[in-house]
Amino acid sequence: MSETEKKTEAALLKEKLAAKKPSGELKLDKETIAKADEFCAGYMKFMKTSKVEREAVRTAEQIAVEHGFVKYEYGKTYAAGDKVYVINRGKNIGLAVIGKNGTKNGVRLVIAHIDSPRLDLKPNPLYESNELAFFKTHYYGGIKKYQWTAIPLALHGRIVRLDGENIDVCVGEKEGEPKFVVSDLLPHLDREQATKPMGKAIEGENLNVLIGSRPFNDDKESEQVKLNILNILFEKYGITESDFLSAELDLVPAYDPCDIGFDRSLIGAYGHDDKVCAYPGVMAAVEVTDPESTFITFLCDKEEIGSDGNTGMQSTFLNTFIEDLAEADGVAFRHVMAKSTCLSADVNAAFDPTYASAFEANNSSYLNGGVIITKYTGAGGKYDTSDASAEYMGMIRRMLEDNKILWQTGELGKVDGGGGGTIAKYVANYNVDVVDLGVPVLSMHAPLEVVSKVDVYMAYLAFVAFFKL
Ligand code: MN
Ligand code: MN
Repeated sequence: MSETEKKTEAALLKEKLAAKKPSGELKLDKETIAKADEFCAGYMKFMKTSKVEREAVRTAEQIAVEHGFVKYEYGKTYAAGDKVYVINRGKNIGLAVIGKNGTKNGVRLVIAHIDSPRLDLKPNPLYESNELAFFKTHYYGGIKKYQWTAIPLALHGRIVRLDGENIDVCVGEKEGEPKFVVSDLLPHLDREQATKPMGKAIEGENLNVLIGSRPFNDDKESEQVKLNILNILFEKYGITESDFLSAELDLVPAYDPCDIGFDRSLIGAYGHDDKVCAYPGVMAAVEVTDPESTFITFLCDKEEIGSDGNTGMQSTFLNTFIEDLAEADGVAFRHVMAKSTCLSADVNAAFDPTYASAFEANNSSYLNGGVIITKYTGAGGKYDTSDASAEYMGMIRRMLEDNKILWQTGELGKVDGGGGGTIAKYVANYNVDVVDLGVPVLSMHAPLEVVSKVDVYMAYLAFVAFFKL
C-alpha cells in the first residue's frame, strides 16, 4: 500500500483545500539555514556602523561602491546593466541597476527606512543641576519611555560650527569610550511613580542624560561641572555651547548586535526596524545583474516621525530621480509610475506568546515563519494605509511560491489594538502597486529588538526574486 492510500478521505481533502500554517525552520534544509546564518553575519556587521541614518547611508554607499556602483550624473547616457547611486543630504541613498527595458515598463522599487526611534538632543541641551551635568532630550519616534532609562547610551550625529565646519560625532561605541545614561528612581522610593500608568511613569521631560560630574577647577564660579564639559567638548571638537543650535545629535543604545538564544537562531540589536529590511534591500541590489526593468533600492529617513521633510518618503527626491531616468528613456514619469511595482520593505510585529492577547493568532506573523507580507497597516477601520490589491497580492504570492521562499502574512496586532503605518501609502499615491514585505520583529521599537536569522535571509531572497520579475 502506498503512503497516499493510508490517508483518510478527510485528510486528503484537508491537504488539498486548507491553508498550511507556517511551520518555520522545519520547512528549510540545513544548507539554507547555514546560508541564513552567513548572511546575517554580514547584517550584524552592517548594523554596527549604521545606527543612525547618516551612518547607514555611508555604510550602504561603501557596499555599493565595492560592488561597482558609481554616482549617477544627470544627462549622462546609461546602458542596461549599469549600476548607479544617488544620495540626498547624506540621509537617503538610492541604488539603481539599469534594466534592459530601462523604465519603459515601469521600475521595481524596494524601499526601506533607516531611521529608528531614539532620543534627540534639544537645541539648547546642556545644563547643570546639583553639580551634575545633563543633556535635555526630545524623543524621536514611538518609544516606551521607561525602556530608555538605566541603559548605556552612545551619542551619534553631526554638529555644524559657526565657521561652517561639519563635525561628525560618535561617542560610546568603541572599546574604552565613555557612554551616557538616563537615571531612574530606585524601587525603594518609587511608591508614587509605581502607581502611575506605564505611559506616565517616565515623563518625556525627564529623559535627561547624565554626561558628567567633575568641576573644571576650584574657582568661585557657578556651574563648574557644565563648564568642564564645555571645555572637554571645545578641546575635542572646537565647539562652543551655541554650536548645539546647529546640530543633529542622537542618543542610541550603546551596544553591538548579538546572537540571542543558546541555538543562536535570533539577533538582538537596536534599530532592526528598519535596517533589517534596508540591508537585504542593499544586498539584493548588488546581487542582481541585467534585470528586465530598472530596479531601485531606496533607503529613506523620517519614517518614524511621519515621513515628512526633504529626506522623508513624502519628499520628491526619489520621484525626481525616477523622472530623470524616465526622461533619458523618452517616457513620461506618470506612465513609468503607473507601470511600476514596489515592495515597501518594512517590519511587522512578531507574535509574542507572553503578550498573546494583543494579537489575533490567525493573522499574525511568527518568528521563523519567513518574510511577512502585510496587505495593509494603519489603524481603526483601515485608516492611513494603502491596502494592496488582490491582484498585486496574487503576483507577490506567486513570486514567493515560485522561488520557494518561506513567507507568511499578518496584520499589525488585533483590530483596534492600536496601529501604525509604513511608507507604502506615499508610494501608492503615485499610482504604483505597493505592498509591505519585511521581517517580523519581537519587542519592536525597544532598545533591543529581536529578529530571526532565517526571516532576514528570506527577506533578501524575496527582494532578489522581485528584482528578477
Ligand atoms: Mn518601520
Ligand atoms: Mn517603526
